[in-house]
Amino acid sequence: MTASTPAGGWVEIDRDAISHNVRTIRAELGPEVGFCAVVKADAYGHGIDIVAPVLGEQKLGLIGLASNEEAAAVRASGFTGRLLRVRPAGRDEVDDGIRFGIEEWIGGAEHAGIVAGVAAARGVRIRAHVSLNSTELGRDGLEVGEPRGVHAARGVLADPRLDVVGVCSHFPCEDEDDVIAGAARFDEQSRAVADVSDGAVARHCATTFAALRLPQSRFDLVRIGAGLYGDTDALGGSLRPAMRVVSRIAAINSYPRGSTVGYDRWHRLEADARLALIPLGYADGVHRSLSGTGEVLIRGRRARIVDRIAMNSFLVDVSHLDPATPGDEVVLFGAQGDEAITAADVERAHGNIAADLYVAWGRLLPRRAVGASG
Ligand SMILES: *Cc1c(COP(=O)(O)O)cnc(C)c1O
Repeated sequence: MTASTPAGGWVEIDRDAISHNVRTIRAELGPEVGFCAVVKADAYGHGIDIVAPVLGEQKLGLIGLASNEEAAAVRASGFTGRLLRVRPAGRDEVDDGIRFGIEEWIGGAEHAGIVAGVAAARGVRIRAHVSLNSTELGRDGLEVGEPRGVHAARGVLADPRLDVVGVCSHFPCEDEDDVIAGAARFDEQSRAVADVSDGAVARHCATTFAALRLPQSRFDLVRIGAGLYGDTDALGGSLRPAMRVVSRIAAINSYPRGSTVGYDRWHRLEADARLALIPLGYADGVHRSLSGTGEVLIRGRRARIVDRIAMNSFLVDVSHLDPATPGDEVVLFGAQGDEAITAADVERAHGNIAADLYVAWGRLLPRRAVGASG
């Protein structure tokens, strides 16, 4: 959602952070490794309308995505390079995806038949990447650990209705030993099913963590999502978070010790307190898991979320922040002054990965782009 009308809160996307991250990652990878920029979930909530032009300026030639709607948005930005779908698609989605030139992710021998059937019906060859279950992220991919699987995979690669341009896999864990072992199995198994001598079939399995930490996982091409948006510490602190989630204090009230202020009398104030009402709630993606655990920044200092998050509002304790006033900027995610609410902070409060939250914030709140990029 991109809007300019006043709202309870909004998401700020820093174009300069994204271009910085692309340049930094490319320098780390060197010129030999292909770079697929992943923009699924509307660019992890950052907005394809904002992110795709930055990727175009950075001359990236390959974009990874999930839905056809995302493909339409990427093409609408003027991108004429290659598109790779990073999950298996159903028959109708594959059929509709032909108009965008999407290269399909083959998630098994039977799925290969579905994609090939669409190609035959349309009288075209569909470019495809054959997923191998080398890393034991077994949700999709051909099992090629025994000869029967190798035979089936070779059959898919030889299918004349498909133009197989890639063999791929996907790691289950951000763990160095796990990635090293999976990359070695993928190396062996991909050689068993494909001729990898001339580069016509690109081999790829690494995402942000593997690509930036373990060069032996890079093969011909890496698929980078989180790194674009600065949601990784795989390169120490050298990538920059691109999203800030911002609101303003709507109202402040003072309460005596012992008061309850939210639903179900869930929380009773232990001391006299000044509480600020922030006009966002779980309907805006401020998940109820943050009730009593999350923090925000006001006037460059941390303030704790008090009581349960409601549908459209929540309260924070600003007793220690005199003189916080209505209209003060409130940062739920990202930096304010010298302080920042980091992905690690929200993961601790939320009890789950940060992407689970920021993907929702980006899709539910109005987005504003900042920074010149280039
Ligand atoms: C999401 C995804 C990626 C990108 O992963 P990051 O960890 O965000 O870099 C790459 N490949 C596949 C198949 C994916 O689903």
